[in-house]
Amino acid sequence: MYSSINSQGVLEDIYQDLYRILYLCCFLKIEARILMYQQVEIKVAPEFVSDEAYQFSLIGDSLGMNPSAFSARLVKRSIDARRFPAHYLLRFDVFTDMVPDPEPALLSEFKDVSEAPEVLIIGAGPAGYFAALDLIALGLKPVIFDRGKDAQTRRRDLRAIQQFGIVNPDSNYCFGEGGAGTYSDGKLYTRSNKRGEILRPLKLLVEHGASPDILVDAHPHIGSNKLPKVIANIRETILHHGGQVHFDAKLTDIILRDGEVKAVRINDKKEYKCDTLILATGHSARDIFYLLHQKNILIEAKAFALGVRIEHPQGLIDKIQYKQSPRSEHLPASSYKLVTQVGEKGVFSFCMCPGGLIVPSATSPGELVMNGMSMSRRDSPFANSGTVVTVSEGEVKGYDDAGPLKLLEYQKMVEQSLFDKGDGSQKAPGQRLTDFFNRKISASIQENSYIPGVYSAPLHKWLPTMIYEPLRQAVKDFGRKMNGYFTEEALVVATESRTSSPVRIPRDKESLMHPQVRGLFPCGEGAGYAGGIISAAMDGEAVAKAVANYKTKR
Ligand SMILES: Cc1cc2nc3c(=O)[nH]c(=O)nc-3n(C[C@H](O)[C@H](O)[C@H](O)COP(=O)(O)OP(=O)(O)OC[C@H]3O[C@@H](n4cnc5c(N)ncnc54)[C@H](O)[C@@H]3O)c2cc1C
Repeated sequence: MYSSINSQGVLEDIYQDLYRILYLCCFLKIEARILMYQQVEIKVAPEFVSDEAYQFSLIGDSLGMNPSAFSARLVKRSIDARRFPAHYLLRFDVFTDMVPDPEPALLSEFKDVSEAPEVLIIGAGPAGYFAALDLIALGLKPVIFDRGKDAQTRRRDLRAIQQFGIVNPDSNYCFGEGGAGTYSDGKLYTRSNKRGEILRPLKLLVEHGASPDILVDAHPHIGSNKLPKVIANIRETILHHGGQVHFDAKLTDIILRDGEVKAVRINDKKEYKCDTLILATGHSARDIFYLLHQKNILIEAKAFALGVRIEHPQGLIDKIQYKQSPRSEHLPASSYKLVTQVGEKGVFSFCMCPGGLIVPSATSPGELVMNGMSMSRRDSPFANSGTVVTVSEGEVKGYDDAGPLKLLEYQKMVEQSLFDKGDGSQKAPGQRLTDFFNRKISASIQENSYIPGVYSAPLHKWLPTMIYEPLRQAVKDFGRKMNGYFTEEALVVATESRTSSPVRIPRDKESLMHPQVRGLFPCGEGAGYAGGIISAAMDGEAVAKAVANYKTKR
């Protein structure tokens, strides 16, 4: 084996053997890892979705192993309805030699921050609350102000809108603890594909009482009956670790000196000193956009989406999507996502609520705004979805005097003009989908989920042409894509106007701070950096890190 016997040669050969042994060890280790862990995907009929023993037997079959020889953990659950019959796809992490230790709870990294430096947060929506949680994890003390009420008390104001058409401008479907996310559909998916970053808010929701199912479902969902408790638990965590939460506390002024935040004024009265302010007031806080503009703090007009809610019988959507009616009791209410291009305009379905309700989401008296929500069981007989057209600055004529508030003023005009055509209540104008297309007033309005009521109206005349025409063509196209969608059984209700913010509050890409105001951190959907519960939560977390960074450099 040795080619020479001089000491140099012997050493070289020894090194070579050592290298071979090391290589073999590494190789064996890799082999061992492969043996210990792998992913297996199985396909099961809906009636077996909760049958673990059956699922383990399928995993065993695919590995050629007895189920007693491995342990498995479900990591992804989705539904494949492309072919009849619909079935579940379940992906498992399978361990043959060892079971990994459970990861420590995220809450275990939280510290007591009662004596730590303060960070003021305006808005207790997903952006504000998740920013607060991450500030605590980073050793800073969040002090939160929200114009609305705690999640439980807020219910009374929602009842007042639903039953009496009374809109409280500080407590409604958009304002109050948990923000627009609390009494929502509670869908928890986002277009972001940063898996690690998405998992953190989902895990935190589970640690505050949400079902662990949200960690594995392809389309996780909580529901409006469960969300308020989860939100209240988040508040408890913030308080328990020394943070503060103030309700009925509206930001009415920001006090600046030499381009730096110095204090805020709450309810036009009390002043709170601060050097760091997270502004997470959501897309409906028009007074905040006016305030910033009036104080010459840079804001920009931002394209937003405007349109209608369209509601179908849930059974019809199930028949189209699952090709069965009634659907299997083991399948959830089905959903859809539709998008088309009409000339230059993108038209798309948004915030689809299977088994849900259309709800009145105005934030001021004198306007009509629709949105959708559902309970965790998604068991209403209706399926509704926002169906909207993108509106950009160049398309809107007039309103130039409003500067960066141009699109906000246009949004407001549409909401108010539809309200003005009604009887002064939150009753909404509607039209059967086929009549909407044929420019015809509906002879009757079918049963629907909108509690204040829907009356027959010529939406084809009442909506701005630049919104109506693309919608009209899109619904016909959606009917071609989804056979059965274009039907007189579907109802169109106006307006869906708060899917996104018509204003952006700019910020530096690196520091996430406003380019003109030191210490001001625009955050979440209202600032234009999120478009849903999870993306707002993720933005809150990103801003919390940016704030911690800023604080340590000061
Ligand atoms: C009915 C409905 C259903 C929805 N369904 C879903 C869904 O299923 N899935 C999904 O991902 N998204 C859904 N959304 C959208 C989602 O709720 C928002 O994208 C998300 O809540 C935005 O989070 P945010 O924290 O940025 O702002 P918001 O949730 O809007 O929170 C802003 C907070 O700031 C407070 N505030 C405003 N102005 C002031 C002020 N001057 N002073 C103090 N506080 C102030 C408000 O009271 C509010 O609590 C829904 C929205 C609605 C209205």
